[in-house]
Amino acid sequence: MKIGVVGSGMVGASAAYALVMRGVGREIVLVDKFEKRALAEADDIFHAVPFAHPMSIRAGSYADLAGARVVIMAAGVSQKPGETRLELLGRNTAVFNEVIPQIVTHAPDAILVVATNPVDVMTHLTTRIAAAHGIAGGRIFGSGTTLDTARFRALLSRRLGVDTPHIHAYVVGEHGDSEVLGWSQVEVGGLTLAQFCAAQGFILDDAERNRIDDAVRHAAYRIIEGKGATYYGIGSALARIAQVVLGDQRAIMTICAPAEEIAGTHDVTVSMPHILGGAGVLARLPIALDEAEHAALTQSVSIVKQAIDSLPGGGG
Ligand code: ADP
Repeated sequence: MKIGVVGSGMVGASAAYALVMRGVGREIVLVDKFEKRALAEADDIFHAVPFAHPMSIRAGSYADLAGARVVIMAAGVSQKPGETRLELLGRNTAVFNEVIPQIVTHAPDAILVVATNPVDVMTHLTTRIAAAHGIAGGRIFGSGTTLDTARFRALLSRRLGVDTPHIHAYVVGEHGDSEVLGWSQVEVGGLTLAQFCAAQGFILDDAERNRIDDAVRHAAYRIIEGKGATYYGIGSALARIAQVVLGDQRAIMTICAPAEEIAGTHDVTVSMPHILGGAGVLARLPIALDEAEHAALTQSVSIVKQAIDSLPGGGG
């Protein structure tokens, strides 16, 4: 099964590497505006194949995406230190207007997964560009807060001493500063967080919750400050998403997809728990938030909507 990765910078290459390490798919095609970069990444990752899984990996053109089951869109300009995700918007819109028509022309049946930031807005834009080429929604979504949800679970796991598969917790809304950690919905082994803490004699006070919140919400800023970019986490999230699609696994993930209405805002794309399968987005699930979290989600969705409305053509 063929997987295309468009944009073989740090995120695209890390996704390809994670695909090889996990043994997802059989063939990977890397496409980049700078062909030399795609060739170099393909060679480098190909040399890891003997240590991982049988896989063909090569650089190619858009035409080589023909027949791909999944295409990961990771092309764009990366976040500069101190730059918010929303500030990236203008610079990446031009890239998308050039790239998305090429992808949907050559791989019209692929599930298209957008990773470029600001991912909610870029996913909304992608759906709009693809619709102009006759491609329906459902097969297009963004990585959204998949990684933020993973960060939340990882931090809870470390604090609670329980492995992440037994922790259910979701980050929803914008993939960025206004995202919402759904504390009131956290479940550990079928117990609420309060029940689990009581049973284990833990106290997770407000100060500690705030520390976890900050570590999730501002993770990207800290990593960019230290090493210039984030890519292993998102690359792994993208490989997992591709695996879910190829295997029609029906996993619940906080990807972002266009919705008619979320938290009172219409025609918007933000992250919510969704059921993902071979056909892409199968369903969006509601999330039971408390009053403060719901107010925060309402605010977060309207922030994304403002950015969507600032797209050339108003995003509609
Ligand atoms: P990130 O950290 O988000 O991966 P990078 O700058 O490392 O950011 O990678 C982005 C990649 O997208 C680069 O390899 C760049 O060449 C590629 N890219 C930028 N614009 C285009 C475009 N118009 N078409 C194809 N690839 C592009």
